Amino acid sequence: MTEEKKKSAGKVLEEQLTWKFPHIAKDAPAQVEEAAAFCEGYKAFLDRGKTERECVKAAVEMLKAAGYEELDETRSYQPGDKVYQVNRGKAILMTTFGEKPISEGIRINGAHIDSPRLDLKPNPVYEKQDIAYFKTHYYGGIRKYQWGTVPLAMHGVVVKKNGETVSICIGEEPGDPVFCISDLLPHLAAKQNERKLSEGLRGEELNIIIGSIPYADEEVKEPVKLMALKLLHDKYGITEADFYRAEIEMVPAQKAVDVGLDRSLVGAYGQDDRVCAYTALIAEIEAKHPTYTTVTVLTDKEEIGSEGNTGMNSHYFGHYVERLAQMQGADPKDVFAKSMCLSADVNAAYDPTFADAFEVNNSSFINKGCVLTKYTGARGKSGASDASAETMAKVIRIMDGAGVYWQAGELGAVDQGGGGTIAKFVAHLNIDVVDLGVPIVSMHAPFELASKLDVYNTYRAFQAFYL
Ligand code: MN
Ligand code: MN
Repeated sequence: MTEEKKKSAGKVLEEQLTWKFPHIAKDAPAQVEEAAAFCEGYKAFLDRGKTERECVKAAVEMLKAAGYEELDETRSYQPGDKVYQVNRGKAILMTTFGEKPISEGIRINGAHIDSPRLDLKPNPVYEKQDIAYFKTHYYGGIRKYQWGTVPLAMHGVVVKKNGETVSICIGEEPGDPVFCISDLLPHLAAKQNERKLSEGLRGEELNIIIGSIPYADEEVKEPVKLMALKLLHDKYGITEADFYRAEIEMVPAQKAVDVGLDRSLVGAYGQDDRVCAYTALIAEIEAKHPTYTTVTVLTDKEEIGSEGNTGMNSHYFGHYVERLAQMQGADPKDVFAKSMCLSADVNAAYDPTFADAFEVNNSSFINKGCVLTKYTGARGKSGASDASAETMAKVIRIMDGAGVYWQAGELGAVDQGGGGTIAKFVAHLNIDVVDLGVPIVSMHAPFELASKLDVYNTYRAFQAFYL
């Protein structure tokens, strides 16, 4: 038996006046197992959805299984009714109707399902020295040197001349071949080693090897290219001209796995931002009788600035909310003004190996919960939405009320770089919005890391938001 030591006055005062976010495994050890169980579904979702289109497809299947129906504007819906609407196969909106009328505002949760990757150029296939390649144009912010010598899978769609759409997927099934970008051996890298890291591999060096056996015919000028095209034709019935009507994405072939002896982390491609997409989707599906009507949006094109008609800078999102408002005879302007949105996106987890890039008092840490990010931006908050104190207070009250483990963090140290999310595009609609998501290690790399406890508590935060 140990005698309890009496706390000093300073210690008592310290406890009253100072604040530190706890390590979840120390504070709530039972959550370690709960989080691990939750992340089994998350890992399966990551493997099913490696492109925005695949994520939408997976989401639709999950929504239908949960009783959602496509939004029908001619119908009137009751509290608890569930609907969804797909935008061009690359973004999806979902709603559970709330107890309160839409005129009192709605609760919005928005995550993005596009991730950095290598897109095929419109004319991608070529042959050089008896090797066939794909030319790529990278999508989103990648550190190009990380993408060499990584097994890659081919995903996407081709619309054939006759209008038929063919879905392509090579490199995911057991026994499938994969593809790869080459890099120099250290023995011959003396010149390449002098390059800046940002040019370790250059954009026009991100060429993907797709074959090396020639088509046996002396008359053919580029027989290795022809052989590759023949194999694609055998499998999918496509020709070289069809690549002009295609969206093909080359992504890491690696499946989602546990990382660490304790299996505390998930390692996978595309966790920015499918980690928030999955947690938001599950919270949406589980919302049974929310007070406010929910709008969960899984959007596209965030990684290139939310551009295009499937990105949050498009009117598609606002139009959806306007439709819901009009269906209940409410003025959309009032609905926007009274609504609140979580911009569900990841932040950079503090990385002790690269401590200089962070400011330790204002960073997010793995295993301390979901991270509330008041503002993003760069060079003096430029491009940030910057949530108000009132919005911060509302979101913190919701999370504290549900016992969610959360923390606050900035995106790295001041003037080390920066970034943005969908928050500013939501704010344009006169909606209160703040970023909330999972801290990620090695963000935008072919293999990103997230803590299972953080994934779980992000889900719990979204669940509380939709109560
Ligand atoms: Mn993101
Ligand atoms: Mn990103």
